[in-house]
Formats: sequence, C-alpha cells, structure tokens
Amino acid sequence: MSNVLTSPGITMMSNLLGAQSSGLAAFIVAYNKSPALAGLSDSFANKTGEAMSVGLPSSGTVSSSNGQTINIDPSMVPNLGANQTNWNSFFDTLAHEWGHDTLNGLYAPVTATILDGPLAIEAQANTAQVNAEGVATTAEFVVAVQLQVTMHSGSWVQAAIAAAIGSTDVSTLSFSTPAGMALASLGSPAVTAGGNAYSSLPPSNALKLTYTQYADDWNIIEKYTNVDPSSVDWQNMTPANIAVLTVDGYSTVVMEALPLKKTTLTPYLPDPTGLTLPGMVPPFPSIEAAPGSEAAPPAAVAVDPVNRLRRALARLTSP
Ligand SMILES: [Zn+2]
Repeated sequence: MSNVLTSPGITMMSNLLGAQSSGLAAFIVAYNKSPALAGLSDSFANKTGEAMSVGLPSSGTVSSSNGQTINIDPSMVPNLGANQTNWNSFFDTLAHEWGHDTLNGLYAPVTATILDGPLAIEAQANTAQVNAEGVATTAEFVVAVQLQVTMHSGSWVQAAIAAAIGSTDVSTLSFSTPAGMALASLGSPAVTAGGNAYSSLPPSNALKLTYTQYADDWNIIEKYTNVDPSSVDWQNMTPANIAVLTVDGYSTVVMEALPLKKTTLTPYLPDPTGLTLPGMVPPFPSIEAAPGSEAAPPAAVAVDPVNRLRRALARLTSP
C-alpha cells in the first residue's frame, strides 16, 4: 500500500488525539501497515452521525447500542492511563469498536417479553451478545495480526479465534473484500469463537459482571422495571443484584436494589434567600386545590369502628 497521510480515518484520529502527536504519527504508520485498520477507520469516519470521544475515568470503552457513538475510557489511551502501554494496542481496541458499527456487529433487539419468561429473554440476549461481540472481536483479531500485537481482549481470545480459522491467512485481509466479509459474517468460525470467548470476559464498563451477565441484566431491567438501563451504575452491579430462579418449572426474577448513576439535579429555589442543602429534596411548588373543590360536599367517611366509637364518646361528653 502506498503511504497515505490524509484520509477520513486519519483526519478523525487527528481530531481525537489532538495534541498527542506521537499517537497520530503511530496511527499513520499503523494505517499504512494494516489494511483492515485502514478500512475500519475510514468506514467509521465516512458514516454520518458517528462520533468518538474520550470520556470520564472508569466510564469504560463502549459503543452505543446503534454503534454510532464510541466512548473511550481515558485509561485506554497511552500517555493518559495505565491500561494500554502502546499505541498499536490502543488502535486494536478501536478496531473492535469500529467493527461493532461498520461490520454490523450490533446487538439484535431482544423481542422476548415478560410473557415468554426471563429465561427466554436471557437466551435471546445471549445470542445477540455472542453475535455482536463475535463480529467486533473478529475485527480486533485481524488488526492485531496485521499490527503484530496481542489483542486487547487477551491472548487466549486470540488463540481461540486463530484455532477456529485454521490456515486462513488474514495478514493482508480487508473487510471490504468478499473474504473479509465472510470472515466477519454471523455464524462464521471466527465470529462464533470470538463471541463464545467474550461471554466470560468482563465489559470495561461493568467490571464485576461478565458480558453474558451484562447482556442478561440489561434486558431484564429493560423488561421488568421502569428503570432505564443506561441510568444504572454498571460498575457497581454485581451478579447478586439480579438472579433468575427456577422453582417447580417456573422462572422468576429476584432483584436487589439497583445501583444508579448519580445525576445532577437542578435545584428548585422558590425563594432566592432560601437554602437548598446538598442531598435535600428540593421543595416543590404547592399544589392548589382544583377550582370549586372547597364547595364540594365532604367525601363519605368509610365506616371505621374506632372512629364510630370516638364519635359516640364525643356525643356523650359534649354539653
Ligand atoms: Zn464489543
């Protein structure tokens, strides 16, 4: 491949890395070395509405469910954190996220409902998770081979995919070719092996769970509660928070209190001299009675033996 210095992918990385010129220089070398990395970064950059940014500490490196938005945990960026020590390893992590979006390695919606039961919901969530992570992990695998680094997901994941694809040579593979598309298609040996390996890993935004538990819990919360799963503090979720028990053939969800992310409330201050202390419930405006309600006859009082006794005593003692 000829030396490329400007391309959609390189422009995108220049915007992401900003002042970190060593990272950009390393990306240009990697881009020219790995056809798969070049294709994935250009495809992501060429799509409309796609965005990538470095988020808050411990926010994890995650794609949104539609794949369009990638949040990068700062600990993943060399020179910013300790999780990654070299740029090629970081680019391999990005290849995984770009694979989610551009190779259609997205989570299929879970259509099972409460009526189908929690086990059916979990089964669909697991299939969606294995497929989505399998496709993204295949992208990560090919880029790791081409950049000669160990997959961020781990050497054992890399070994599992290598064993599954046998003698298939991916050293010059691009995902825009028929061979590349076949490798990353649902049900391919690479996608299946990568997805299965991923099932037992912890997601970076939910370190106390495995991917399987994360997918299960997300869908159970979505179906069984009024809580938006994206408002859950996933870093503090444990396997104990949600359990599905089967007794006498009936499955039921047992749920503990869910840890929620702290949100910033806009304090309601009815009086500028009033003081709202942190943690206090802000005072709500008083609710006026509906017009005419004061003239309405008093509501009938339910018959209550204690009240009846009190009324009887009051009549006896009244002058
Ligand atoms: Zn993933």
